[in-house]
Amino acid sequence: MTVFPSQAEIVVIGGGVLGTSIAFHLAKAGAKDVILLEKNELTHGSTWHAAGMVGQLRSSRNLSRLLQTSVNIYEGLEAETGLASGWRRTGSLRLASTPERLLEAKRSNTIAKSVGLEAAIITPKEIADLFPIAETKDVLGALFVPGDGVADPTSLTLSFAAGARKHGVKIFQHVAVNGFERSGRRINAVRTTEGDVRCRIVVNAAGVWAREIGKLMQVNLACCGLVHQYLITQPIDGMDSNMPSMRDPDLSVYYKPESNGLVVGCWEPNTAAFDANPIPGAFGRELLPPAMDRFEPFIEAAIKRTPLLAELGIRDVITGPIPFSADGDFVMGPIPGLENTFVASGCVVGIAAGGGIGKVMAEWILEGQPSMDLWPVDARRFGDHHGAKSYLFPRAIEVYGDHYRLQPPGHETSSSRGFRRSPLYSLLKQKQAVYGAKFGWERPNWFASGVGEAVERPSFDRPNWFSPVADEHNAVRNAAGIFDLTSFAKYEIHGPDAFNVLQFLSVRNLDKSIGAVSYTQLCNKRGGIEADVSITRLSHNRFYYVTGTGNGVRDVEWIRANAPANAQFAIEDVTSAWSVLLVTGPKARGIIADAIEEGEGGIRSGSELSTLTIGAAHVRALPISFAGEVGWELHVPSEFACDVYERLLEAGGPRGLRNVGYRALDSLRIEKGYRYWGSDITPDYNPYEAGLGFCVDLDRDPFLSQVALRDAKLRGPSRRLCTFVSDKLRNAFGGEALYVDGEIAGATTSAAFAHSIGKVVVNAYVPSSLVKNGEFEIECFGERSQLMRATQRDLLKSV
Ligand SMILES: Cc1cc2nc3c(=O)[nH]c(=O)nc-3n(C[C@H](O)[C@H](O)[C@H](O)COP(=O)(O)OP(=O)(O)OC[C@H]3O[C@@H](n4cnc5c(N)ncnc54)[C@H](O)[C@@H]3O)c2cc1C
Repeated sequence: MTVFPSQAEIVVIGGGVLGTSIAFHLAKAGAKDVILLEKNELTHGSTWHAAGMVGQLRSSRNLSRLLQTSVNIYEGLEAETGLASGWRRTGSLRLASTPERLLEAKRSNTIAKSVGLEAAIITPKEIADLFPIAETKDVLGALFVPGDGVADPTSLTLSFAAGARKHGVKIFQHVAVNGFERSGRRINAVRTTEGDVRCRIVVNAAGVWAREIGKLMQVNLACCGLVHQYLITQPIDGMDSNMPSMRDPDLSVYYKPESNGLVVGCWEPNTAAFDANPIPGAFGRELLPPAMDRFEPFIEAAIKRTPLLAELGIRDVITGPIPFSADGDFVMGPIPGLENTFVASGCVVGIAAGGGIGKVMAEWILEGQPSMDLWPVDARRFGDHHGAKSYLFPRAIEVYGDHYRLQPPGHETSSSRGFRRSPLYSLLKQKQAVYGAKFGWERPNWFASGVGEAVERPSFDRPNWFSPVADEHNAVRNAAGIFDLTSFAKYEIHGPDAFNVLQFLSVRNLDKSIGAVSYTQLCNKRGGIEADVSITRLSHNRFYYVTGTGNGVRDVEWIRANAPANAQFAIEDVTSAWSVLLVTGPKARGIIADAIEEGEGGIRSGSELSTLTIGAAHVRALPISFAGEVGWELHVPSEFACDVYERLLEAGGPRGLRNVGYRALDSLRIEKGYRYWGSDITPDYNPYEAGLGFCVDLDRDPFLSQVALRDAKLRGPSRRLCTFVSDKLRNAFGGEALYVDGEIAGATTSAAFAHSIGKVVVNAYVPSSLVKNGEFEIECFGERSQLMRATQRDLLKSV
């Protein structure tokens, strides 16, 4: 018997599909001295009772690629590990019974094409051929993905475990982790029922227990467990177990043929939380009592689709805990607040995603970053507040119930709202601000003053905010707008090495005079864009760092992880201390000048910070406007924000100043060529490809991305972010397939209706060789239409 070790290089906690896949991929990539700890036996968490459906299409391109990676891994796993994974390619159907749902299916089909996944919209007759027990009279069509399939969760996990052992991983079952030895930002040892293990890296893959493991590490993770259920019918004569699985989102049910029956599951509203209270220590390979009151309405619905169900007995009801998160997506990557720990949990489709997750987690752990941008599932997209019970569970339960709900772009959640409010919240609410939520904040999306009800009605076509947003947009272009951007994440970075650290990470030379405001990117050693920020030099070694609302946790963790070794600096979160009012538009300068204290020097020219007095507040004015107009972000000590706002409104009223929200900002920025970090620019792209080469100062002391960017500049970008306009489209949202010369060449990164131009504008990366002479088309809801390339100069001329 293997002796339990007192130290290891990497400790993986959890022997479900994720933990075993991560251990396998780590060892396969060459990691030595990896151990896996499982408190019960392998698969004894959520894995053993999963239905085993494997779908590959997700809302973002890279997540779809991650799932495609899984399928590729499953295809070759048996040959690699010696144990069958139970993977079978059966295809999948996603039905559409309303015109809107059909639009959604067409949009998914477009996304599938953009990632090279074979898919098609098929007719009711073709559905009936593939799934003969389905009643299709009311069905309009379905998305068919022939490459989807099913896997046997237990076989898959045991196959990964066999592969891991083959590569040297030691797996210890019946060993529970019950604490950690932590000093500062490091975990030094894992405490277990068999004794302490000193280690260099810890991976938390504990499924629905991941949040509890987080608590033992003294961090708040935004993942949890919810209750999910499906039933298995009595055997069906002549049932073909190779029939595709089928999802019926309009009825919120799914089907998976079993060798001698049918699995029928549902995503019901108001499911229960599994771990709102501490999970009993002994909970292992067991199920929860079925909640038939919640399930029955969906069984009724399922009988409409598959009438045969009414005649079949129910053999079993499986009710078990499923990992979930505060936004329904996985929670992966480095754990914020600690420098040597990783998490992979919150995974609602772990059987489908397990292979890909294992691979990218191994890259993240061993190489410092995954081979593709994984921001939509990055643990650093959450703050501490997302892990609080009162935020996490209501939101997770809402998102769970919405799993299949038709959600046109722009949909806002209704639970867990109002936690973080700007001082202006009530004032703007009185002015009919319609709020959206971001990172726990309430932010004005648009203002309904004088245009009817202050509610949002999103649509695949034109949402109800289309006209008011057009008015807000035009006010900014013709006069001025005032935006409440208080939710920006703000930090002061200071200490003896503060300058050296930022200078090392930034692509722009920050060696500038005190008061200089620099727009820059932070890039990794491959040249990929990790952050897109403004940095203001407050003194020799003190900087004011401003980044997007949801990006602060990630930026700060990345700065800490990539700063030169032993650098002495501190990062202080000052988000709550400062409110931000953006005043922008051709009249902005005059409005601010009228609002400031008489006799003041006024606004400084160029990229310089001005300190202004408005009312009794000392305000930092940064000459930056994401709207692409003359403008200043006024950073106001929070308690003065209402007074400063009222004074600006008073000064601006006669000049046409009006309240403007985030939805207009999207339209304003896209027609002026401003990029969004997270879609247009990500670690997958470098500044030259993104058209941000003007920010890069290559000729200076060494910095992190210098070698990669010098090389990138020398070679010239192989692809470029291009802007296009469409004469025909009524709307686009990003993620649509882009065709160049009739061939799929990628997908749009972002899109918006640009109100000055009166046309849809889209951004997309295009191979450099095709930029000049290519014929471009976009596929939107299954329809292809021509795109005209527009240089920045063209767009500016028309604005
Ligand atoms: C009813 C149901 C149906 C599902 N159907 C599907 C499906 O069709 N397709 C799909 O892709 N997904 C499905 N899922 C989801 C899937 O089950 C999960 O995504 C997947 O099993 C998660 O794997 P995991 O490794 O993260 O967690 P788990 O399998 O829960 O593994 C975590 C492990 O950590 C161990 N552990 C916890 N605490 C400790 C500790 N302190 N010390 C040591 N070990 C510890 C646990 O014992 C457990 O074995 C379904 C889930 C449910 C509930």
